[in-house]
Formats: sequence, structure tokens, C-alpha cells
Amino acid sequence: MANLTTNHKPRTLNFLYLCISIKKIMSTEEKSLHFIEQIIEDSLASGFPQANLRFRFPPEPNGYLHIGHAKSICLNFGLGLKYNAPVNLRFDDTNPAKEEQEYVDAIKEDLLWLGFNWAEERYASDYFQQLYDWAILMIKKGKAYVDSQSSEDMAAQKGTPTQPGVDGPYRNRSVEENLTLFEGMKKGDFPEGSHVLRAKIDMASTNMLMRDPLMYRILHRHHHRTGDDWNIYPMYDYAHGESDYIEQISHSICTLEFVMHRELYNWFLDQIYDDTLVRPNQYEFARLNLNYTVMSKRKLLQLVQENIVNGWDDPRMPTISGLRRRGYTPASIRKFCDVIGVAKRENIIDVSLLEFCLREDLNKTAPRVMAVLDPVKVVITNYPEGKEEFLDAENNQEDESAGFRKVPFSKELYIEREDFLEVAPAKFFRLSLGNEVRLKNAYIIKGESVVKDANGNIIEIHVSYDTDSLSGSGSEASKRKVAGTLHWVSIKHALEAEVRLYDRLFIDEAPDSHKEKDFLDFMNANSLQIIKGFVEPSLSTVKSGDKFQFQRIGYFNVDKDSTASKLVFNKTVGLKDAWEEKGKKEENSINNSLKDINKYFKVATREERIAIRKAIGETLTGISNYSLLQNSFKKNINNNKSSLLFANLILKYSSLKISDFDKEDLTKLYLMSLRSESTFVRSRALLNLQYLGYDSDFVNSFKEEILKLKSNPTKSTTERETEFIDQILNK
Ligand code: ATP
Ligand code: MG
Repeated sequence: MANLTTNHKPRTLNFLYLCISIKKIMSTEEKSLHFIEQIIEDSLASGFPQANLRFRFPPEPNGYLHIGHAKSICLNFGLGLKYNAPVNLRFDDTNPAKEEQEYVDAIKEDLLWLGFNWAEERYASDYFQQLYDWAILMIKKGKAYVDSQSSEDMAAQKGTPTQPGVDGPYRNRSVEENLTLFEGMKKGDFPEGSHVLRAKIDMASTNMLMRDPLMYRILHRHHHRTGDDWNIYPMYDYAHGESDYIEQISHSICTLEFVMHRELYNWFLDQIYDDTLVRPNQYEFARLNLNYTVMSKRKLLQLVQENIVNGWDDPRMPTISGLRRRGYTPASIRKFCDVIGVAKRENIIDVSLLEFCLREDLNKTAPRVMAVLDPVKVVITNYPEGKEEFLDAENNQEDESAGFRKVPFSKELYIEREDFLEVAPAKFFRLSLGNEVRLKNAYIIKGESVVKDANGNIIEIHVSYDTDSLSGSGSEASKRKVAGTLHWVSIKHALEAEVRLYDRLFIDEAPDSHKEKDFLDFMNANSLQIIKGFVEPSLSTVKSGDKFQFQRIGYFNVDKDSTASKLVFNKTVGLKDAWEEKGKKEENSINNSLKDINKYFKVATREERIAIRKAIGETLTGISNYSLLQNSFKKNINNNKSSLLFANLILKYSSLKISDFDKEDLTKLYLMSLRSESTFVRSRALLNLQYLGYDSDFVNSFKEEILKLKSNPTKSTTERETEFIDQILNK
């Protein structure tokens, strides 16, 4: 089922929203109630006993939990905490074809890690007998029947949203016949697909889901809990509401795609409801959509099965286990869910908000250490050979209780290669020849000379140090202002470590939203890079999951692959948001090009026009954001010569292929362009039509328009244009 209930594309919340959210994170003021809390407050106010509040989180054990589930978890368990009400963990295990114990175990582990505990662990399969008994009751009341048609026939009778369905030939089977057949289904007397049990509701209902929905299908499958006891399994819509009722769930919260199912949810409850008990109600909220990832379990499974990632807990996955391995903290995920809030409107959350919440948390908790990931050797020429010092380093300036540690210092150090330039350009606040910088927790050094290999690569930087300048010594020299502070490690003492650097798994912000493209077309080929780095020796005893800030670089955690003899770190997140910068740059450059295009119509000479077109072409070629290009293209199909020319230039220069564009959009663009007042627009469109490799049918569909152009003198047709027209017509 599509996860959107409207035709509108959900909006991606922009930077402004992010700023508002960030303010919200910072502020300590009470948050207002979200709409579900409001509903609960209202029912408490009108007499519903608080002791009867009960919630559930109902995962289907057919995959690992992802960050979307975290939103639902935080919502349901959050309500439980707020109202001191039990929350059940209910595995919705009605489809034995896809469910496994492995997933059950993983889901429980993830929930506990997130910091939530359930009241009772339940399974829809616990209720198979009760559900079966109720189905028998419904057959006896004439509310359910066995249908023996093919699924194609049933689909044909179902009608369409605008056309009512029609009754099938088995709809009026006798109760006795229905009971006999249904029992036979249960015992395994019939092959899969031969019969189904359907609710008898209304084939003409305006809600398609009410047109005699399926309740049971035959599946000769082994179930992870009930084994081979059953040959029939209940459908989700039937099992879910009745399970809520059995557990006496008061508020059954699900995502918006279930809005239309609510009527059916209530119908199934009507058949069995006893008014001395709590009657569950279904409420729907907007699911979490996050950019630059996919969240469908089917697609995540595909990534795992096709070894595109290294398992469900690959640190690039949006799964809870992937985030955990990447170095996310439970608090940061809960904070994120808190900040995005609960509402009824679909939107897309920027993944940088999740990263922001993580940085906020790690900044407070992660001890600072020094690591050099792209080392170049530094020799302190005036530091005594063989001497070593153990210098005091503060573990976390954000946390006074974190204390100090010792870091060894010696004559030979590593610093980052990018922290040195022989000749410093303006605003280069790092090491260069003749200039001073401070080494963190240590001394001020000054660049003196470099040693290069035969190819001219710097292999050593020779520096001198100021013996009086030790950090924290209080000396005059130590207080001297210098350009910047660098991190470093002592070569003799440093530990070698494998460092895994991650980038987003997808290069597009909405990889599974493009009709003509598979989400796998948008994999980021550089999402994992493995390098060798050096870390300070205090990290010799780390354990899997330990988190650190590598100063000036980012947050890192110890991977589960790490051993005493081979340290392995994952880069959790950088100190700054590199993607935001890149994304903004691309957006700016497309906006600037749009401005430049107005000049195209004003300049006097052909040479000037060519220069503008070339510059725009280069910009467009350099943009890698598929959605940005698509959106700019669509936005510019309108009756304005600059827009039309721009859309035509996107066609010509961007990395998108012809098959990436909608046929309808293309047709619209070419019709508008060929009718444009501007010869430049018309010429560009004619050239595109001729050279972009369209099939001849497509080009021919504009023949009439092109002929009109040829015979229309008012359009001040230029010679070049006439030439293009003739070329197309003669092809
Ligand atoms: P998928 O579509 O990925 O298979 P699902 O909705 O079928 O996911 P379930 O295991 O049935 O997965 O989900 C358990 C609960 O989590 C449901 O209540 C569902 O509504 C909720 N949930 C799933 N995805 C999201 C999401 N992206 N945002 C918020 N809640 C979600
Ligand atoms: Mg589901």
C-alpha cells in the first residue's frame, strides 16, 4: 500500500523548520499536547477511567526495526509512561511466509536498547483459536462466507473506487456449507488458493475495503510459533482489531495509510463486542519519512539479501541496529522522535535533524581523544632524542566530572596532512613554514622546513618548539595567541586502527520516489571507505560500543569487529554537516543559473550568448542531486521564455537521461517551446528534438507544430531556426 493518502507530495521540511526544531530542543518550556494526547485528555475528562488506558506496539516480525518504527515506539511507550499505563509488545505474526524468530529476537533487543520495556509480550498467533471461534460465530450469523472463486474473478467483481462491486456466485452459500468448507480449510483438505473466508458486508460500499474483505486464506506453511497446527491464517485487518480487543487496548495507534481501514476495524469489533469491556479505538498519525534513505522493510531486506550492505546492522542502514552500530545513542533517537512530534500531516524529515540530535547528545557525553586519520610525520628538531612526557589532557570540557588523562608526547608526531601547507594562504589557521600553531594539550611549534620524496610529496615536516609554551603552565609563552590548535599523536606511542568512514547510502533524497527508476539506481558508491589511522594509546582498552570524539574530526565508536590486537572504529557523524553545505551549494548554483538565463535574452552578440549557455551548461552538468534537477525541470515548464530555455538546457546538459523524464512533461515543454515568442527558445527546442535521441514517433508528434512554425511569418523566424526546422522535417 502506498504510504501517502493524498496525491500531494509530502514536503521536505526545510532549514527553517530545522532551526525551529533546534530552538525547541534547546528550550525547556513545557511542550503542548499532541493530538493523540489531546484525545486521551478529552476522554479522561469525560469519564474514561485512567486505569483502563492501555497501548500496544505491534511489529510484524518480518524484518528489523527501523527509525520509522522508533517514532511509533516512542509514541506508544511515551503514552504509557505519561499515563502510567501498560504497553504491550504484540507481534503481528499472521503471515508465516515471511516471519522468523530471528526478527522477534532483534525487535526485543532494539526496544530494550531504546530504553522501553513492555508490559506483556503477546503474539497474534496466541489468538488463532479465539479468532477461529469468532469466525465460526460470524459464519453462523450470516456475516461470513467461503468464496471458492479464483482471485482474478474476485478482483473483477470488486469494482473500482467509482464503480460498485457485484456479488459473487458463492455469496449466499448456506451456513452449513460454509461451516463444512471452513472446517475443511482448517484441516488442510484443500490446496492453497482454492477457498477463502470473506466477511459478508457490502459489495457496493463506497469504501472498497468494505466490499467483502478476506478474513482467512489457506497457507500450508510452518509457523514460527504454532508449527503445523494451522492450514489457514487470518488476514491482518481481521486479526488486528480483534487482538486489540482481546488485550483490552484502549487506543490503537497506527499510521495514516490505515485511515480507510478504520471502518472495517470497527465492523469486525461490532461482531464480537461485549459492552462490559473496553472497546478499542483506532487513531492514525503521519509516519516518519526521512530523506536520503528507504524504510520499506521489503527494500531493506533486498539490500541485505543482495549483499549491498553488510547485514541488517550495517552502520549505513536506517535500522535501529544499524544506527546502534554506527554509534547512535538511545537518547539521541528518543530526542529526535520528540522533536519531530506527532501530527496528521505527511512530511519528509531531513536526516540532518537526526544527526543534529546525535551531535547534541554526544557532545555532552563523548570523551575527547586525539586521532590522526591522514598522517604526515612531524619532527621537532629541538626536542631531545629519546625524551617522552606525559601531558595532561581534559577528557570533556562539557562535563567537569570527566576528569583528565595523560597523553604521551615525543620528538616525532603525526598530524593531519591537511593541517599543513608550505605557504599559507590568507585565513589558513594551521601549520605552515615560518608560522606558529599550538599542539593541543602540548606546546607551540613553528614550521621550519620540509623533506620531500622524489615525487615532491612531503614526507616530513621539521618544526621547532617553544619549551616554555606548555598548555596550562601559566607561563607568558603559553598564553601567546597563535593561528590555531592542531591535534596530533606521538608516533612511538600511537596505536594503529582501522577506521570506517560512512557516507549516506543513497545519493538521492528520495531514492524510492521515482517512477521510472529503481531505488538501487541511487546507491552511493562511496558510502563506505576504510582507512588506517593512528589513535592515542589511552584507547588500548576500549570495548565495542565505546564512543569518543576524535578532536577536530567527529564522533567515532568502537565497532563490534574490534579486538585487542586490531582496533576498529566507525565514524558516527562529523562535527559539522558536510551534506547540508553541499546541498545548499547545489541549490544556490541552480538558482544563480536561473538568474543568469535572463541575461541570455538581453546580451547583444551571439558570442555572449554562447558564453552564458556554456556556463549554465557546466553548472547543470556538475549537479548530482537527481531530485533537485527533476524539480527544477518540472517547475520551469511554464509560459515564460527564461523558464522554457532553462528546462531545455536541463534536458541538454544535466546528467539525467531522456528516460528519466516524464513523457507528458516533455510533450508539454516542447509544445510550449515551439510556440514561444523567442527564437532562442524555439531553436533550442528544435535542436534538442533533433539530437537528444528521441524515437521518431515522438519527434513526429510535433510535426504539425513545426510546420506551423515554418509558415508563420509573425514569429520573426531566424535563418538558423529555419535551418533546424528543415533538418528535422527532412529527417
Ligand atoms: P514496512 O512498511 O516497512 O514493512 P510496516 O508498517 O509494515 O513497515 P510493522 O512491523 O507492521 O511494519 O510496523 C509496526 C508499527 O510501526 C506499526 O504500527 C506501524 O504503523 C509503525 N510504523 C512502521 N513504519 C513507520 C514509520 N515510518 N513511521 C511511523 N510508524 C511506523
Ligand atoms: Mg504493518
